[in-house]
Amino acid sequence: MLCSYGMGNALILNVECCICHKVHGEHGWVHRDRVAISGRVSHGYCPSCYRKALVDLEKDFSLFRLRPELLTEA
Ligand SMILES: [Zn+2]
Repeated sequence: MLCSYGMGNALILNVECCICHKVHGEHGWVHRDRVAISGRVSHGYCPSCYRKALVDLEKDFSLFRLRPELLTEA
């Protein structure tokens, strides 16, 4: 990913999944050992890990709806 960074400067920004460490490249999401990384790295979620994270969040929210006392501090 190439981002514009001010007047005439460009910043190469690589996006790496914070869970599985795949990097988003020209050919989709690949393990970081398979690509040469230059520039800065920003972390996010690949599509697969994003879906899993949403499922986990939904489970947590369901638990909090059933037991709201878990949200209060002890
Ligand atoms: Zn991932």
